Amino acid sequence: MHANGRNLPVVVAGAGLAGLAAGATAALAGARVIILESSLAGGRARTQKCDGFQFNEGPRALYQDGAGARVLSRLGVMTPGHPAPLQTARALIGGAPRPFPAAQYARVIAQMSPVVPGEWAGASAAEWIDSSGLRGDAAMVAAAAVRVTTYVADLDRLPASVAITQVQTSLRGVSYLDGGWQSLVRGLTSTAWAAGAEIRQHGRVEQVTGRPGAWEVHTTSDVIQAAAVVIAVGRPAAAARLLPAGPQWEPPGPPVLAACLDMGLRHADARFVLGIDEPLYMSPHAPPGDLAPAGCGLVHLLRYGPTKPAADRDQLWAFASATGIRHDDVVVDRFLPRMTVVNHLPLPCEGLTGRPPVVVPGSPGVFIAGDWVGPDGWLADCSLSSGERAGQLAARVVT
Ligand SMILES: Cc1cc2nc3c(=O)[nH]c(=O)nc-3n(C[C@H](O)[C@H](O)[C@H](O)COP(=O)(O)OP(=O)(O)OC[C@H]3O[C@@H](n4cnc5c(N)ncnc54)[C@H](O)[C@@H]3O)c2cc1C
Repeated sequence: MHANGRNLPVVVAGAGLAGLAAGATAALAGARVIILESSLAGGRARTQKCDGFQFNEGPRALYQDGAGARVLSRLGVMTPGHPAPLQTARALIGGAPRPFPAAQYARVIAQMSPVVPGEWAGASAAEWIDSSGLRGDAAMVAAAAVRVTTYVADLDRLPASVAITQVQTSLRGVSYLDGGWQSLVRGLTSTAWAAGAEIRQHGRVEQVTGRPGAWEVHTTSDVIQAAAVVIAVGRPAAAARLLPAGPQWEPPGPPVLAACLDMGLRHADARFVLGIDEPLYMSPHAPPGDLAPAGCGLVHLLRYGPTKPAADRDQLWAFASATGIRHDDVVVDRFLPRMTVVNHLPLPCEGLTGRPPVVVPGSPGVFIAGDWVGPDGWLADCSLSSGERAGQLAARVVT
């Protein structure tokens, strides 16, 4: 073994978007890379085929001008897709679909567009809406716009800077990807492979021990010597468990959760419906996307902030029914009662700068990545940008 570990690989634990971005980035920078995934590559970005329908695990929109799209572009990952079908959108008010409050929405957007997010550092999204002069229905429309772009229902706990940035970024375009988010997984995997990275699925990392320059990555079947390690295993607690003396990364804020009902329909008539007075929304991903057999449709319904699974399931079915979807229309459905959309909601007083950095203190050559790491981006934008940064730093250890 070389004294400074330069002939050892970079080992990445986890092949979600963060781990794949880290592995592909390090491999492109010239490092030998091994990516270990306990299950199948993709994590929460996987798309499953059910009776000819391609289900993401709940709705997924790629922010075209977000930090993640820029990472994907640098890694040569194409993202063909379609804009969200907002032209025919309806609103859910008082339990029934109604015409979309377009004038109010335009007023809210006009109010949000010029705001500088950094000027609202320390405030919550609720405080920002309150002080913006929006009242009554307009305030509810503003809250719905923030929910649909952040996935957060409790606006008292959401940093205003995140809310404003997400709404503004969404105005520059969101895309429903052809082939679902599996296309991102395929694209990142291809880039990583082409650059020489090895991806081992069903290879769980149990622990990381050793010392700088000679880390030991313990899997269920062997121990791999590594010059640098990127831990991208999803949850903060799971990352902390891999490092015996590592920081605990106890997030001060809760995870952002959602209940999702995914439906494959016999028809393609469903419309986008945004809950104004309830934390709900329904979004047809096919059409416009190519995720359903010809003539059929695929919709995702979501409740921000799950309660009890049975109650949430009933509420989402009632929502579908209120929009005109009958049980007979449904070819296949899947209820996901408690999805983790984001692992850590930062406190309003801290904002995104309160998240832990990619560099693990006290463990040179060990890095973390995921939707709770680093100062950049929200949702997958954070996973991809922290993954890229971790991959760059890991590659510097060996190249
Ligand atoms: C319902 C829902 C809607 C969403 N909508 C959007 C959206 O519209 N726009 C957007 O940008 N983002 C959205 N997201 C967020 C986005 O999907 C995630 O940010 C992203 O997929 C997370 O990637 P990750 O790599 O950080 O984590 P994960 O996908 O959780 O990946 C972690 C990986 O590590 C593996 N692993 C765990 N433990 C180990 C171990 N010990 N050893 C090896 N491997 C291990 C896991 O199997 C997994 O594959 C949404 C998420 C959800 C749930």
